[in-house]
Amino acid sequence: QEDVFKKLVAHSKEYGFVFQSSEIYDGLGAVYDYGQNGVELKNNIKKYWWDSMVLLHENVVGLDSAIFMHPTVWKASGHVDAFNDPLIDNKDSKKRYRADVLIEDLMAKYDGKMDKEVEKAAKKFGDSFDEKMFRETNPRIQENQKKKEEIHARFVKALNDNDLTELRQIIVDYEVVCPISGTKNWTDVRQFNLMFSTEMGSTADGALKIFLRPETAQGIFVNFLNVQKTGRMKLPFGIAQIGKAFRNEIVARQFIFRMREFEQMEMQFFVPPGEELAWFEKWKAARMKWHKSLGMGDHKYRFHDHDKLAHYANAATDIEYEMPFGFKEVEGIHSRTDFDLTQHQEFSGKKITYFDPERNESYVPYVIETSIGVDRMFLSIMAGAYCEEEVEGKDGKKESRVVMKLPPVLAPVKLAVLPLMKKDGLPDMARAIMDDLKYHFNCQYDEKDSIGKRYRRHDAIGTPFCITIDHDSAADQTVTIRYRDTMKQERVKIADLKHLIGDQVSM
Ligand code: ATP
Repeated sequence: QEDVFKKLVAHSKEYGFVFQSSEIYDGLGAVYDYGQNGVELKNNIKKYWWDSMVLLHENVVGLDSAIFMHPTVWKASGHVDAFNDPLIDNKDSKKRYRADVLIEDLMAKYDGKMDKEVEKAAKKFGDSFDEKMFRETNPRIQENQKKKEEIHARFVKALNDNDLTELRQIIVDYEVVCPISGTKNWTDVRQFNLMFSTEMGSTADGALKIFLRPETAQGIFVNFLNVQKTGRMKLPFGIAQIGKAFRNEIVARQFIFRMREFEQMEMQFFVPPGEELAWFEKWKAARMKWHKSLGMGDHKYRFHDHDKLAHYANAATDIEYEMPFGFKEVEGIHSRTDFDLTQHQEFSGKKITYFDPERNESYVPYVIETSIGVDRMFLSIMAGAYCEEEVEGKDGKKESRVVMKLPPVLAPVKLAVLPLMKKDGLPDMARAIMDDLKYHFNCQYDEKDSIGKRYRRHDAIGTPFCITIDHDSAADQTVTIRYRDTMKQERVKIADLKHLIGDQVSM
């Protein structure tokens, strides 16, 4: 699996999806650039989210708030005091880690041990193997399970009590070794604030210390009244926003999974007090359905309800996707109560309430948040789409192909337009078809190399359709269409292409 991940990272670079930032200067940690295909995929993900949130919900509207915000916003939100990661250093390697991530990895190790045990037995017993029974009765599995539960209980308690000494003690008791040096020599755990800061204005005027926003949500909260009043919005309603966020992450690893500059798609849904948990359940179901609608495999998604609730929440869950390195959070859904609006009311001294004509009273609305990282979603889609296949090549010989089975609606290029040869008027005819279709979806013209090579290139970037223009095309106004996943080819009318492809690449 690790191997698949490495290949995916290499593939992302080779085919213009993701580059390391400032690569010619040896890169900048946990910052990435999106290349010619990556930017298309990313834009398509954002559009797919935006359209399903804003266009398909009458009571959800959009917003684009600034990255810079008044510094008091982050006092009110709690980020100045509480947006901290527990850090620990290994004294020998001088490497820095997040204590909570080390402990999560430790628990995952026990899961791995148990899975190996199951795998071995399944091989041995074949069809008659009953996994549930085996897990419940095998002494080695039982022992590992018990240890994992012990760690888990201590971990949750330490997080809830914000007990840094106990976090370190867990690492020491279970002899966690430094992944780099293999030693067990740890410092104390200390807190580290994740916000980047900078200065606004010249020092002569008295510069203002401001932060790069670590989430887009606060821009929505401080605009609640602006949108509600100017849009004459009635509760329940939502405000959606897509934008950059910045976190000075310590454990920068796993490619674009954890970045220091990333993008979020967030929606804050405002509801009357008392109705928030019912709406939490509704959005939970709606968001899961949205992910599954992309056809990446229903079994690859699961909910992970939180053991530890943030100070502002009364319910929280993650939607996790099975990445090559295990199930990981892609989206968070939180019931944030009236915490944020109440805090902003207090810190700004401005009233932030809603008059409810049905209840005939004013109150501070409650909030359900759905928050998804564009880059994490990008990674999950890339990971799910990446396939290596053995196929029949020239003269019936087996060859391998790498194909990105991206959902057509997200694929960077929808259609490759390929003249069979660079002569006999075929390129002109291909150009004419392309000029007609390019207003409807992203087409790419390609005349270089053999047709087989061109197909492979488009497989590698996930183009769902290729058409070839040949010597019969002019006479009967048809082309050969080739489908990426099945590699089946058929003859279709040029006039039908717009609908045939358009229907499958739109939402
Ligand atoms: P994690 O536990 O992985 O640090 P989080 O719980 O802090 O994530 P939230 O604050 O709930 O994340 O942010 C919402 C979403 O934003 C996450 O589900 C994730 O998709 C995305 N996200 C958060 N931090 C990062 C990051 N450093 N890089 C990329 N995406 C991120």
